Amino acid sequence: MTMIGDKLHSVQARIDAARRAAGRAPGVVRLLAVSKTFGAPAVREAFGDGQTAFGENYIQEGVAKIAALSDLPIEWHCIGPIQSNKTRLVAENFAWVQSLDRLAIARRLHEQRPMQLPPLQVCIQVNIDGEASKSGVAPTEVLALAHAIKELPRLQLRGLMSIPQPTEDLAVALAAHQRARALLDRLNNDGFALDTLSMGMSADLEPAIQAGSTMVRIGTAIFGAR
Ligand SMILES: *Cc1c(COP(=O)(O)O)cnc(C)c1O
Repeated sequence: MTMIGDKLHSVQARIDAARRAAGRAPGVVRLLAVSKTFGAPAVREAFGDGQTAFGENYIQEGVAKIAALSDLPIEWHCIGPIQSNKTRLVAENFAWVQSLDRLAIARRLHEQRPMQLPPLQVCIQVNIDGEASKSGVAPTEVLALAHAIKELPRLQLRGLMSIPQPTEDLAVALAAHQRARALLDRLNNDGFALDTLSMGMSADLEPAIQAGSTMVRIGTAIFGAR
């Protein structure tokens, strides 16, 4: 196994331990490998070790990697901010967008999603700690945006994505993840059938999984420091 393979293995072991500690069933937490700033060869290596879903923050960097690795059946997730002049690149190249936080962007992605591709899988990014510096919609605005996205058939709403404020305090991290989980439950009680709660990164995947994360987004613990 390669070095990246060893790290993937350790991350999978952490996911599995947290999943078991939370009393959740095997296979309910997916691993998204966040490859931003690492080149196509690192992604190819991780794919060779069995990792199939990758996340990119910077559109142009991501699209270049997607082109370089078009021989591999990788599922690409856009997890970074999207300017309106970049929506076409996103709609044409990615399978998922987890960083959706504006209706205007959702409409453009809907219009620009090529008909020969399946609907773009999307998550609403929620600013769970209300940080002024962070993107994402306020928790109070999530329901309205979700209803608006439901009217756009070239998008399929899958759930929520959140990036809580970094903290060393496990209880604080857990509380933030639980607020995101409660928000997803509210949407589902309101008639949605959302299956994705994307939360947890290298430093906080355990409390995220305890709170019900279905997808952790891991960069550093797989590829190293950026
Ligand atoms: C960079 C990034 C990650 C991965 O963070 P690590 O701490 O390196 O695991 C996850 N999600 C988003 C949105 C990111 O920008």
